[in-house]
Amino acid sequence: MIRTRFAPSPNGPLHLGHAYAAVVAHDIARARGGEFLLRIEDIDGERSRPEFTEEFFRDLEWLGLGWDGEAGFQSRRLATYAEAGERLKAMGLLYPCRCTRAEIAAAATAMGPDGPVYPGTCRHRLGTSESVDPEGAAWRLDVTRALDLTGALTWTDELAGPQTATPEVFGDVVLLRKDLPASYHLAATLDDAADGITLVTRGMDLFPASHVHRLLQALLGLPMPVWHHHPLLLEPDGRKLAKRRGSPSLGDRRRAGEDGKAIAEALRRHRFPAGISLSSGVDHSP
Ligand code: GLU
Repeated sequence: MIRTRFAPSPNGPLHLGHAYAAVVAHDIARARGGEFLLRIEDIDGERSRPEFTEEFFRDLEWLGLGWDGEAGFQSRRLATYAEAGERLKAMGLLYPCRCTRAEIAAAATAMGPDGPVYPGTCRHRLGTSESVDPEGAAWRLDVTRALDLTGALTWTDELAGPQTATPEVFGDVVLLRKDLPASYHLAATLDDAADGITLVTRGMDLFPASHVHRLLQALLGLPMPVWHHHPLLLEPDGRKLAKRRGSPSLGDRRRAGEDGKAIAEALRRHRFPAGISLSSGVDHSP
């Protein structure tokens, strides 16, 4: 049975772009007789706020997008993430790093999907972690060594077709943040497996992240889903829709008396408010 999920982060209100993502995940599950889950990705420290989560529940009900079962919360699964982190450390694949963003930007020689690619400054610490005080350090994955272990990996996006995993475009990603026994990549990968997600739907902006998730699945012996990276809603200037650039939140629209179900229906039919458009084509990057 197919199972999809919508996985918002409660660090701000939802807007039309999120509503579109939720419609895609919900409608695919319903059309194929499957399940649609809701997962709250609330591990972003101070930026995660419970009041946004409460708003998410109201927004989804207003849109007419009912989910199956109880919503999941990443903040309740930290022990699972930490345990997976320990397994990867025991496999000799993680090393501690205290480099700051500024240090990385200064030393980087390439740009990746998330900005300057980490240049491997601390990789020499691999396997020597006992002599390094790991307190306050983030733990990075030696991606080259990990790929040596797994061999070439492939995955499939329903829209973009077969892919060869290229997680190295991010450099050695952080899997355990200094303030948290997890990172987006590790938590999302573990949760999708634990929740039995068979089709990961999300925006094209996260297409590159799926290369990393495929690698983590292979390392941790997790099942591989299929992916569906959908186009994004764009502002008139071509940038991704964002609350901070002035588009009203779903909560604002709800409180102003707009009809949520009609908005969901318009999104399904690709009818967007003036100035908003859907990104074209399928992004095969990187
Ligand atoms: N929490 C992520 C976001 O709000 C989505 C993650 C995902 O779908 O994998 O952008």
